[in-house]
Amino acid sequence: MAHPLYLSNEKYRQWLKAGLGLRYLKEGLAPFCEDVAKQQHKDILDNIKQTKILPTVTCGQCAVRTLKPDHVKIGKNKCPLGQANCNCCCKGGKIACPNNVCGAIYDNIITNHASVPPAPNWKNTQSQQWTVDPWSIAKCFINVSGYDLKTSAADIDCTGLLHVIINNKYFHNHITGTDVFSKVRKYRSEIFRSSTMELENANTYIDDMIAVLQDGKELIYRKDAKEAVKKLQEVAPANFDQYAAVVPPQPAPGPVPQPAPVPQHAPVPQQAQMTPKRALAPQPDPAEVVPAPVVPVGIEHLQCVLDQGTGFRLLSFDAMSNDQLQMVPTARAGMGLHVSTPIKNKATQTSRDDTEQSIVSEYDSDGRTGVNRPELKDKDKSEEVS
Ligand SMILES: [Zn+2]
Ligand SMILES: [Zn+2]
Repeated sequence: MAHPLYLSNEKYRQWLKAGLGLRYLKEGLAPFCEDVAKQQHKDILDNIKQTKILPTVTCGQCAVRTLKPDHVKIGKNKCPLGQANCNCCCKGGKIACPNNVCGAIYDNIITNHASVPPAPNWKNTQSQQWTVDPWSIAKCFINVSGYDLKTSAADIDCTGLLHVIINNKYFHNHITGTDVFSKVRKYRSEIFRSSTMELENANTYIDDMIAVLQDGKELIYRKDAKEAVKKLQEVAPANFDQYAAVVPPQPAPGPVPQPAPVPQHAPVPQQAQMTPKRALAPQPDPAEVVPAPVVPVGIEHLQCVLDQGTGFRLLSFDAMSNDQLQMVPTARAGMGLHVSTPIKNKATQTSRDDTEQSIVSEYDSDGRTGVNRPELKDKDKSEEVS
């Protein structure tokens, strides 16, 4: 399929819709995850403070690789917490935390991990931050690596947040169950691993994303989750077909007609110099113009998806004429896509009118400059004035 026709492909638009859904899901989950991760961090430190009777719970000196846990191996070489390759079983000498804190945090992370056997991802954490950064602990529950420099839920993608919720027993106290969360986590992989970037129907995915955000324990009462649900409900019935109808026919190969040159002695307004080609575009017959429908899903939604890395950039339409919105590829995409669609936008009406007037003043419907127009006869002049 030629590049310019991607957006006319219904299955590709369904794929875009699913991607947009994941974005809204992340928006709805992040504040919840931020709050629970902070609460867990506080509870861990408070618990250590109480059980060890410490005046303060602080460190910053211990590395996971060399840290001696609080728990000790059982038998010959068996971790009592069930972790494979646990520091408790390492033969090389491990170093106890000089502040009597980090060994307990290490144990706590293992016992909170929901996998059997527990499998914290130590590659995602910087243990020197354990007593000051809640996400240095929460990120141990993300199975995939690459989050080591992330410091907040807002920095973490939908997959990472879902891993934290599913793999962290502490989070299980704040949801009714993990089933729908696990289901959506698999969806995410399905969507982004689609080799064709196509989906038959995104609505099953969207429905379960809504179910996640309406989990009855806490999420359903949270403002951010409610707002995300609202966006997902708006997206669900849309099929973005307004974009399918706007791919213009591709020009036939052949010489491109050039506008008549502007004589040097004729002053040309700056705006017309910048936008002459728009006046050359065929204009619709006013009698055939149908008012643009109210677009149920705004153009900003599409741009959100495009921003994810498709390489396309929507141009603002205040520089466009005839209510047309242009979309061009970014340099990364390197494709010759040109899409236009009628969009009503009152805020830009004034500047657009100004542009049109300046163009009309210099070009007639055939694209000739005004200064090249033949002299009007007196009769025509009077008709033009009226
Ligand atoms: Zn162990
Ligand atoms: Zn320490």
